[in-house]
Amino acid sequence: MAPTTKQKSPAPKKQGGAPKAPQKKKGAGFTGNFISTILVLLLMMSAFTFFITGHKDPEEIAISQVAADVKAGTVSAIVVSGNDLSLTYTDDAKTEKVSRKDSATSLPEVLAVYGVTPQELAKVEIGIQGESGFRFWFGTLAPLLIPIIFLVFLFWFLTRQVRGSGMQAFTFGQSKARMIDPTDTAQRVTFADVAGAREAKEELLEIVDFLKNPKKFLDIGARIPKGIILMGSPGTGKTLLARAVAGEAGVPFFSVSASEFVEMFVGVGASRVRDTFQVAKKAAPSIIFVDEIDAVGRARGTGVGGGNDEREQTLNQILVEMDGFEPNEKVVVMAATNRPDVLDPALLRPGRFDRRVTIDLPDRRDREEILKVHARKKPLGPDTNLIVIAERTPGFSGADLANLMNEGAILAARENRTEITQYDLIRSIEKVLLGPERRSHLLSKKEKEITAYHEAGHALVSSVLPHADPVHKISIISRGSAGGYTMKLPFEDKRLHSKKSFIDDMAAALGGYVAEEEIFGDITTGPHGDLSVVVSIARDMVARYGMSDMLGPVAFGSERAFGAEPYSQDVAAKMDAEVSRLVSLAKDKAREAIHTHRGALDAIALKLIEVETVEREDFEKLLVANGITPKKAEEQAAVPKAA
Ligand code: ADP
Ligand code: ZN
Ligand code: MG
Repeated sequence: MAPTTKQKSPAPKKQGGAPKAPQKKKGAGFTGNFISTILVLLLMMSAFTFFITGHKDPEEIAISQVAADVKAGTVSAIVVSGNDLSLTYTDDAKTEKVSRKDSATSLPEVLAVYGVTPQELAKVEIGIQGESGFRFWFGTLAPLLIPIIFLVFLFWFLTRQVRGSGMQAFTFGQSKARMIDPTDTAQRVTFADVAGAREAKEELLEIVDFLKNPKKFLDIGARIPKGIILMGSPGTGKTLLARAVAGEAGVPFFSVSASEFVEMFVGVGASRVRDTFQVAKKAAPSIIFVDEIDAVGRARGTGVGGGNDEREQTLNQILVEMDGFEPNEKVVVMAATNRPDVLDPALLRPGRFDRRVTIDLPDRRDREEILKVHARKKPLGPDTNLIVIAERTPGFSGADLANLMNEGAILAARENRTEITQYDLIRSIEKVLLGPERRSHLLSKKEKEITAYHEAGHALVSSVLPHADPVHKISIISRGSAGGYTMKLPFEDKRLHSKKSFIDDMAAALGGYVAEEEIFGDITTGPHGDLSVVVSIARDMVARYGMSDMLGPVAFGSERAFGAEPYSQDVAAKMDAEVSRLVSLAKDKAREAIHTHRGALDAIALKLIEVETVEREDFEKLLVANGITPKKAEEQAAVPKAA
């Protein structure tokens, strides 16, 4: 429908897919451990306190009592240790008592104050014990040391926890990349695990080849793409495909999610990027996979959402790292996004992510393949028919289909069966459909019919009019806001457009609109995007290229200056009239083509309803069968354009 390369907007992701290390689930264990540690520490501390102060088996008496006892001659010895006094009595039990004096005065002085005479005092054996003992050190240092020990322990404990779990509070700066080792067969994914996506796999085969045998390419001086960006709706298998490239090539796969780069402190993202690249370079040949790169790679300076320094720094660092690659670095950066429309153009420049691989939602045949992949380890009953399931699931992504097979298995297990039946799978379709992530882009039967005729209209008009571009591929699998799309290949990379080719292009763009009108006697909102294309072609023809008979060879430029138009009201009115004249001219051409070839239109539409995606070869067979000669295919150019 609309000529758009937009992918599905950010529908919630169903399956992370990313090879995440077991994260976060340590949460409960962590708090548990933490609490028990604190308890142990508290116990230790109270034990210390008890140790220090808890020796008070001897009775403690006041200093005045000490003086009285000395006067009475019942004290045989006093040991002074700092301010502590240990008294030994003359009684048979040699009772011990303790007391304290103040630190400013000596014992004799204190006792003198209480009236103890030197003679009386002389009877007592006075020993001075330096405070060098264990108690002194402990008494003075413990209050200092215990908090320090506690802190050190706490820190050690936290860092230890962090290392094991996903909590990165203390590892900022370090690379958070998760690595999948090529020798880890349990985690290894190959192209055989990725069903469908033929074109994408073909393109990526080259990268695999390079990573397997970089020397062959480097020796001949080939520059290998540094960056490949995978674009496609959520769940179409981007992450899976990236892992498969690593698996096929047998190289380490470092995976980071761009959203993780920006999650914590300013500056962390950039340093993480640096670390990740460093690690990957050491392991070269290797793959760095940046998932959801739109999280950092949004176009800068649009003002939407405000400036975000962290994001920009991270993005800049990625660019710097990629620019800094030596030609023989052997590190390939892959990135995935479902929002290629918001990416910063700087990311897509040559030498960066200059390879783009689009992954479409699977068509019927692909869906069958994907179902088969996910049925591999599941016992299917004899009545299951995956073709039927594939037919009933237009609009499902690979992740949805994986989910569907899983739901089927769950249903069977819940009913204590050992095989999955067709009925389980049919019920699972609904479950996936009506699940929390309801798919809005699923076409109803009627919508599917309308979309099929719409796209057939584009394709037919394109094929019939001599100056329009030949059709490359038609699909009614929705893409972005469009219900379907028709890809056309221009014969050559056109620089010069003729007036005739403009008119035929407009007619082809109106083909969908006219087909809907002719077949259903009604217009949907579907052709909305087509119409703006048509009008802008017409405006350009009139205002920029001087292709209007009425206005003649004038060029006003189509950009509007501030306020005033560079032409008079009169000219403006003439231009509007001329634009609508050209549009209706194109519309008549489209209508005529559709009238003349109604049989072909029906045939194309029916085929689309049946198989959803028709490639060029099959399409041309349909044309021939309906008496239309397909355009010559030889001189194709590379750029497919959607309409
Ligand atoms: P994306 O990264 O595009 O959102 P993922 O690669 O995470 O999608 O895909 C999620 C899951 O869906 C995969 O782990 C896989 O089980 C399944 N899946 C998606 N596409 C395919 C496919 N083409 N073939 C097989 N399984 C697929
Ligand atoms: Zn259209
Ligand atoms: Mg993904």
